[in-house]
Amino acid sequence: MRVHNFGAGPATLPLPVLERVQAELLDYRGSGMSILESSHRGPHYDEAHRQTIADLRKLVGGAEDHEVLFMAGGARTQFSAVPMNLLGGGRADYLTTGRWSEMALEAGGRYGEVREVWTSEADGYDHVPDEGSVRIEEGAAYVHYTSNNTIRGTQYPYVPEVGSAPVVCDMSSDILSRPLDVDRFGVIYAGAQKNLGPAGVTIVLVRRDLLERSPADLPETLSYRAMAAKSSLLNTPPVFAIYVVGLVLQHLERNGGLAAAEARNRDKADLLYGAIDASGGYYRGHAREGSRSWMNVTFRLPSEELEKEFIAAAAAAGLVGLKGHRSVGGIRASLYNSLELAAVEALLELMAEFERTHG
Ligand SMILES: *Cc1c(COP(=O)(O)O)cnc(C)c1O
Repeated sequence: MRVHNFGAGPATLPLPVLERVQAELLDYRGSGMSILESSHRGPHYDEAHRQTIADLRKLVGGAEDHEVLFMAGGARTQFSAVPMNLLGGGRADYLTTGRWSEMALEAGGRYGEVREVWTSEADGYDHVPDEGSVRIEEGAAYVHYTSNNTIRGTQYPYVPEVGSAPVVCDMSSDILSRPLDVDRFGVIYAGAQKNLGPAGVTIVLVRRDLLERSPADLPETLSYRAMAAKSSLLNTPPVFAIYVVGLVLQHLERNGGLAAAEARNRDKADLLYGAIDASGGYYRGHAREGSRSWMNVTFRLPSEELEKEFIAAAAAAGLVGLKGHRSVGGIRASLYNSLELAAVEALLELMAEFERTHG
């Protein structure tokens, strides 16, 4: 029996995608072998590679000015790859809204001058900046922010306006959760294992004019320019992960694309926040109104003891992955694209019952 998986990542995948993987595992499309065993230079993988890029472009409406790269090392490696490729001798500005953006800032500082131009650390990272409230001085090599804060459960409802500097965004936990205007970004990066597929590949979209910034002496596999020149086939890419991402993208497309994904995600989040708000303070959301994430919903119960009991009761009912990140505790329900509405309905039922019996 499959459980309702609210885990933050690696996260739930669409059942039809898993079934497709299973069906074509032993004999991939007439090749007589699995995709796991196929050469990354052979025709079968080559088609999957190109198709995944084409499907990603289709979903976001082209992204004609950007290269789509598949890189290794997770989003965490991009914390360093971004400054290594883009900083030059310049200065970069960072908006810090949680642990991941803190780490990106720290990594940036190892390669040159970085400035923290906005942070909500003093408020326990319970909000993102109000639209239009961040002032960026001209001259930054780039401005970095994290669109969705997976651990704290906050999310930008808009793309920050930063003047002429390229915007670099860690979109690991909300990429393709809503329509995406790629043209507003210099670089978008995302580990696949939250919203796009399995762990092992990081999707990077880089605006082509930025490629010339990559210094010639970078390790090739970390160089946006070198990777783009070889269509991410410079070395062996994570073929299985890329193939599964491709299936997830096709699944998204078949189900109405990003506008439909947004509507489904909004419905799920509205349901859950509605239940939190209607509980009379029994369940308390962490994020401020206006900064609430629709991907990771974080909340507390009246005591840590009750939180433990709640997680156990949930597991007994087939609802797993609800434990908050170890650094903050509480409850975290991740509502990524692939989580079904039925899972949220089951969670609401559990919440009502738990409050009734433990109130
Ligand atoms: C999970 C996550 C990361 C880290 O991703 P890895 O692929 O494990 O390196 C970075 N940023 C955000 C926003 C995340 O959610």
